[in-house]
Amino acid sequence: MNIRLGKWARWFAPGWWGCARCKTPFRFVEAHRVAVSMGVRVAAMCGKCWSGADTDERIYYHMHRFGDRADWSAVRSAVIDER
Ligand SMILES: [Zn+2]
Repeated sequence: MNIRLGKWARWFAPGWWGCARCKTPFRFVEAHRVAVSMGVRVAAMCGKCWSGADTDERIYYHMHRFGDRADWSAVRSAVIDER
């Protein structure tokens, strides 16, 4: 399954992280992982939302999710470098 269902689908995926943009749990939609450093990959968005977003929007959602705990400058450059 790889479809964006939205927030309500959380009822069927307790404990799962989801896309910061469409809110669909990664149980139902494929996550887009960004390599922040060796062996560290983070996912804030699903692949479908990633494809439909521009760089500013991608940075916004990754900051929203990881800005308060990750090495923010590393996450930001990883998002910019990722294709
Ligand atoms: Zn999404």
